[in-house]
Amino acid sequence: MSLAADLIIHPRWLIPVDPANRVLDHYSLVVRAGIILDILPQDEARRRYHAPEVFELPGRALIPGMVNLHAHAAMSLMRGLADDLPLARWLEDVIWPTERKHMSPGFVRDGALLAAREMLRGGITTCNDMYFFPAASAEAFSTAGMRAIVGLLVIGFPSAWANDLDDYLRRGLVVRDQWQGHPRIGFALAPHAPYSVADAGLERVAILAAEMNLPIHIHVHETIGEIDDALASSGMRPLARLERLGLLGPTLTAVHTVHVNETDLALLAHHGCNVAHCPTSNMKLASGIMPLAAMLDRAINIGLGTDGAASNNRLDLFQEMRHAALLAKVTGNDASAAPARAMLRMATLGGARALGLEHVIGSLEIGKHADLCAVDLNDPLVTPCFDPVSHLVHACGREQVTHVWVGGEIRVNDKHVMLQIDDNELLARASLWQTKLVS
Ligand SMILES: [Zn+2]
Repeated sequence: MSLAADLIIHPRWLIPVDPANRVLDHYSLVVRAGIILDILPQDEARRRYHAPEVFELPGRALIPGMVNLHAHAAMSLMRGLADDLPLARWLEDVIWPTERKHMSPGFVRDGALLAAREMLRGGITTCNDMYFFPAASAEAFSTAGMRAIVGLLVIGFPSAWANDLDDYLRRGLVVRDQWQGHPRIGFALAPHAPYSVADAGLERVAILAAEMNLPIHIHVHETIGEIDDALASSGMRPLARLERLGLLGPTLTAVHTVHVNETDLALLAHHGCNVAHCPTSNMKLASGIMPLAAMLDRAINIGLGTDGAASNNRLDLFQEMRHAALLAKVTGNDASAAPARAMLRMATLGGARALGLEHVIGSLEIGKHADLCAVDLNDPLVTPCFDPVSHLVHACGREQVTHVWVGGEIRVNDKHVMLQIDDNELLARASLWQTKLVS
């Protein structure tokens, strides 16, 4: 007699990510109550299990849903608003003034929903976000059926969301209390950057993070200018200052870490910090190139991030995998640097581990949540396929994603995104915001 399940998927290849270096040919994945119940050869799966939902996916590779380790989802409404500017001018001349003028819960909710749709369509099932009005972002991710760690922003200037350090923290923690217990939405403390939050604020964040068991999400060492300014004002490099203030540790995700010397790398490795590598944003703002190979050599945990759509301008982890790999190869003058398997691991399990979710998501293993992405490797655009993992990094794009599940629930079915809100309404809202932003 066969056993009952909720969902059975029969792909051509199943790439679990952990254990590493394994590609299972003609295996099936069985889901019950949102959890991966079994992974077994297809003929056996057909004999042993039955389910109301069965997906035959010939030519497809099934991989874990990807984890976007650094985003500002709501900024999708500012996609392409300010191109061809370096970080400081991009932030100070365009982005911050626009945010001061237009920031509201409605802006954040609509922008984050648009971003969630884009991410799901491209196989991203979890987003580590940082922005104003975190309740509106949480609402958007929840509505879209994504998993998210919503950053409770702390920044050293007033905004429409909060007035000062105490206000940012107080309001943020109220939001966190309101969403306590949600199955897919969690929170982190998100001090914007060492240069935009004073010592007192960073110390409070370190204490609260430890007390409340919250991860920390912070931009750090993004540009040379940031480090020069820090040395001039405090006599310390930003990572050294964060260490002094008690922020470095295995629950901290350091975003960018483009300009790091031997001492900085040793600090990151010694404290078990995680790194969110955002190669496209770093290239577009001409911030520099993160030394990926040096970090891999030191066994620093790395995930991949898109950053916001105002500095990318795509929320596409296939693009980030490829850019990260190519940059590491060309800067190291070493074609063997950053192999495809390491890139896929960063885009999935590396991000999950940084968020403390490595026991829940990030790989296809029995007992984990069924966050899944199916990619068509039989598409004429990418055929023939000799190595499915190489293909995912170097040949495929998000346009080859055909199916996505979060916790065993389908979110993308045959390239169609299953949102509660239809595309026409989403487009109309984006268009309204566009008109307001340029008015
Ligand atoms: Zn960012």
